[in-house]
Amino acid sequence: MDIDWHARAAQQGYDGRAFIGGRRVAAADGATFDCVSPLNGRVLTTVARCREADVDAAVASARAAFDDGRWAHQPPAARKRVLQRFAEKILAARDELALVETMDMGKPVRYSTSVDVPAAARCIAWYAEAVDKVYDEIAPTPRSGLALITREPMGVIGAIVPWNYPMIMSAWKLGPALAAGNSVVLKPSEKSPLTAMRLAELALEAGLPEGVFNVVPGHGGEAGEALALHMDVDAVGFTGSTRVGRRMLEYASRSNLKRVYNELGGKSAFLVFPDFDDLPRAAQTVAGAMFFNQGESCNAPSRVFVHEDIADAFVAEVVKEAPKYQPGDPLAAGTEMGALVDEGQMRTVLGYIASGEAEGARLLAGGRQARADSGGWFVEPTVFGGVTNTMRIAREEIFGPVLSVIRFRTEDEAVRLANDSPYGLQASVWSSHVDRAHRVARALRAGTVHVNQYDEDDITVPFGGVKQSGNGRDKSLHAFDKYTELKTTWIRINGS
Ligand code: NAD
Repeated sequence: MDIDWHARAAQQGYDGRAFIGGRRVAAADGATFDCVSPLNGRVLTTVARCREADVDAAVASARAAFDDGRWAHQPPAARKRVLQRFAEKILAARDELALVETMDMGKPVRYSTSVDVPAAARCIAWYAEAVDKVYDEIAPTPRSGLALITREPMGVIGAIVPWNYPMIMSAWKLGPALAAGNSVVLKPSEKSPLTAMRLAELALEAGLPEGVFNVVPGHGGEAGEALALHMDVDAVGFTGSTRVGRRMLEYASRSNLKRVYNELGGKSAFLVFPDFDDLPRAAQTVAGAMFFNQGESCNAPSRVFVHEDIADAFVAEVVKEAPKYQPGDPLAAGTEMGALVDEGQMRTVLGYIASGEAEGARLLAGGRQARADSGGWFVEPTVFGGVTNTMRIAREEIFGPVLSVIRFRTEDEAVRLANDSPYGLQASVWSSHVDRAHRVARALRAGTVHVNQYDEDDITVPFGGVKQSGNGRDKSLHAFDKYTELKTTWIRINGS
């Protein structure tokens, strides 16, 4: 049965209090900030404005929980059962979580139900399943000794996440960190804080002991900075902009040299060669990947490099796709693209569109604000042709629905231009020649390279970038490495 999301939204209540030590609490000084819905510009609720004192309380609670072993010392199979229940509770709360996510950050509810909630649950369930199947090591030492190489949980993990996929980004940190036995203090974005606290409630209901998972909503320069500077936080899993990622490294150097895992911005390249035999599919894929989530995806393929012989035909196909993503009501069943997260983000995106035109790029589709009468913040799917790789729209991460098409003549030139970026998150090569596909995939400097596709993704593979896209890898068994320390224990064996 179709859900009447407007009716549900009218009924939905929101609790903006923090979650510390297993309880909902106001900020210590009672401060709050407004949580505004990008759908219509109205205040949804007020949210606890956590600062240093609240972060101290959350870290102390996480540390106490870690030190007494109430979670870390449970057998892996027991942690598995709790986290499996947590994943089941996320799925059971699907409609509520999806609605809150949509009201808070603007994506279509059809995708928060079909993508965000299931992906967050699958991530938690996957690490739950994995945790009693990961073995430690014994080193090949002489017979006089035995050296055990074991993984130990690190202690208290600070997780600082952005607003574009609030639940999924949280789950990418929570899954491996909790499964490994750590305690977590999560700082959601001030632009999308609400689902994080609900996740913590569901985890508690699933049997996660009090204090193991805490949430401190607040501003980056307040709660975020206090958490990243905290002397009792052992590692920070950060997802966000390259600008703030730099600060994370600074905070670590100014405090206790905590581990910092940065998952940062992107300007991913999509290379289309003339030997590729299905241009419409390439065009549909790039439009789908670019305009999904309003273009607010770190891996959005925002730089499209196309060979000059097929450029006109390819661009015509992309321009044909764009109107399918015209923004609509995020609560309506058929909407493909929703609202940008806030007015500031909309102004940033419109500013980039103006800069593209000013620098001489050709606006081929979109380019304007949409649905202004809703009171929300929507921008049309936008395609620029005639772009050069030196223009701002080709160099800087826009984080909105703006795609730039750049022409090339040779394979070498395409690879050189694609790699000429401060970022290196993802890339895609489209070619029907197996040699070229492999050659170019090898030459592209990116954490993930796709060949003749862009949409495959799974919790089983690492996700992260090179260069200024960061140094961390979320997802897959490799993420356990981030939230565990290796310990070597030497044992002498006499008489052998
Ligand atoms: P942001 O860097 O502004 O904020 C991210 C988080 O950091 C938020 O919780 C924010 O409150 C906090 N923060 C901000 N300033 C801080 C400070 N001085 N000290 C401590 N914390 C601070 O990023 P955003 O606008 O929320 O998210 C968009 C960015 O995230 C884009 O650059 C996008 O590419 C990136 N992203 C990367 C990945 C990835 O896996 N590589 C995934 C999603 C998003």
